[in-house]
Amino acid sequence: MEPPDIERLDERTVQRIAAGEVVERPASVVKELVENSLDAGASRVAVSVESGGTEGIRVRDDGVGIPEGQLEAAVAEHATSKIGDIEDLDRGVATLGFRGEALYTVGAVSRLTVRSRPPDAEAGAEITVEGGEVGEVRPAGCPAGTTVEVDDLFYNTPAREKFLKRTATEFDHVNTVVTGYALANPDVAVSLEHDGRETFATEGNGDLRSAVLAVYGREVAESMIDVDWAPEGEGNTDGAADADEPPVKRVTGLVSHPETARSTRDYLSTYVNGRYVTASALREATLDAYGGQLAPDRYPFAVLFVEVPAGDVDVNVHPRKLEVRFDEEPAVRSAVETAVEEALLDHGLIRSTAPRG
Ligand code: ADP
Ligand code: MG
Repeated sequence: MEPPDIERLDERTVQRIAAGEVVERPASVVKELVENSLDAGASRVAVSVESGGTEGIRVRDDGVGIPEGQLEAAVAEHATSKIGDIEDLDRGVATLGFRGEALYTVGAVSRLTVRSRPPDAEAGAEITVEGGEVGEVRPAGCPAGTTVEVDDLFYNTPAREKFLKRTATEFDHVNTVVTGYALANPDVAVSLEHDGRETFATEGNGDLRSAVLAVYGREVAESMIDVDWAPEGEGNTDGAADADEPPVKRVTGLVSHPETARSTRDYLSTYVNGRYVTASALREATLDAYGGQLAPDRYPFAVLFVEVPAGDVDVNVHPRKLEVRFDEEPAVRSAVETAVEEALLDHGLIRSTAPRG
């Protein structure tokens, strides 16, 4: 047989393939938009979705906004205000985003509108992107901050659209993402609405327990126990990375009474250096700390923040993946287990175990 010709794909096709890599489902769009709002220093982030996000997603914030003259750049490929070059990446990125591709890729597979007004600007403006086609910047009346609307996700990528699950399943994913950020940022008022009905709204008063109350309800909030652990004898004053830096600097958060448990692991939320991550090592360490105190196939609620030296975890991972790897995984695991164990012991909720070696 004749070898087939090798041809370069046209730009639109490349764009859609790439978009499918980052944007898997409505929840991945919500994740990117909420991260942008948090990066913009918002104190309120309101998320509302229609039909699990498949028909509509809207994220509104009161952050720094995007000046009219920069709206085009915001939706352009590889355009970001967050890093300048590779050296910035090596220094460690403080923002949640940095690739400059979220709005661009979402715009390739939906009808996207970005409407914004920086607080000191007199008027707002908006830009729309339809299936990668960027429209004109137009004046728009809007409150200070940014509103991003994403309609008809995957309308032009039927293969991807087919993968979408039932509305309820897609909304579960959206809920998990928004809950994750709400708990990580108790100082931000985060709300979620589905088909016009409020799912939850945190107060943004800086209190983690109050955020847990808003998200999980009173029974859970009242059964939560404080976790606060740091390695002993740490005199690390200036915060500069040094060779003697401990592999785990601090573990804080809340864990539930062993009797306040559910049949899913979904309520074990873990954060590394402020980033929401799924790390099986962290979950297992948390469960291990409960020893035999959990009923079979029951899992506690936990919101745990682990601080490790910036160089010990890689943030430059695939945008869709939340899984992280640690340079010093055994040390991280043991610190988390000890932290949770100490908290439970303090409350007489587990029996003291033999000191570990
Ligand atoms: P990244 O977050 O990686 O920079 P995005 O495509 O998500 O890339 O966003 C591109 C740029 O648009 C951001 O760098 C930021 O300057 C601007 N931007 C996006 N969303 C917001 C927002 N909610 N508030 C203010 N600026 C925003
Ligand atoms: Mg972003």
